[in-house]
Amino acid sequence: MNRKYRKTIIAGNWKMHKTATEAKAFAERLKGALPRAKRCSIVLCVPYVDIPAAVKLLKDSRVAVGAQNLHWESSGPFTGEISAGMLADLDVKYVIIGHSERRALFGETDHIINQKVHAALSAGLRPILCVGEDQDQRELGVTMEFISYQLKAALAGVTPEDMRRVVIAYEPIWAIGTGNTATPEQAGEVCGAIRSILRKLYGARIARSTTIQYGGSMNEANAEALLAQEDVDGGLIGGASLDPDKFLQIIHTANQD
Ligand code: PEP
Repeated sequence: MNRKYRKTIIAGNWKMHKTATEAKAFAERLKGALPRAKRCSIVLCVPYVDIPAAVKLLKDSRVAVGAQNLHWESSGPFTGEISAGMLADLDVKYVIIGHSERRALFGETDHIINQKVHAALSAGLRPILCVGEDQDQRELGVTMEFISYQLKAALAGVTPEDMRRVVIAYEPIWAIGTGNTATPEQAGEVCGAIRSILRKLYGARIARSTTIQYGGSMNEANAEALLAQEDVDGGLIGGASLDPDKFLQIIHTANQD
């Protein structure tokens, strides 16, 4: 991480875990144990139904609440869907877009992801845009070609001004939920290459100030080494964000002087 130029952001992705009652208990525990120094930003991306409880409990804390998905239209006949405006109205600040589970299990294409990025930005939300290669792509040596394509497609039409609100999460698919964390060098190398792509797309200033997280089995034991990489500006954390003690340890690590 490099706090001089950009924000370090530690974000939890609860996926489909925790009821609203469980979310309340977690938020209370988290709030009571947060470090005073504010060297990193903290986000909790909870299931839709947990949002009101999480926002209420974390209101006066330094923890922002995020969602894990949204629909790209602002309203209409889309049964079961939630719009960016609905999230913003609940005081949601961030939204995960393009997570590999949504790409693989819910058929999200790069075009849909691009539409969702625009919808989030128009409603004032900060997208956490996920990109990352699978095992085959890594072994074939096409990781950066693939990620470059994902980035260009997802960010098509996003202005430099709006890009200031976009967070990128590098999430190698082979590392998500597997315990098979990327080495700090692998994470640092790809996050650095992502910054180079952003430099070409948006110029040096924006590239330098964009937060690029690593995600994929990050936990309290490996966070320090991953965050020590210059281009790894935080984490998107699944499994380890479900346990308040583990999540807090990662926050403390990111918050160290
Ligand atoms: C994720 O879902 O974004 C993720 C990184 O999960 P995990 O930390 O469990 O690998």
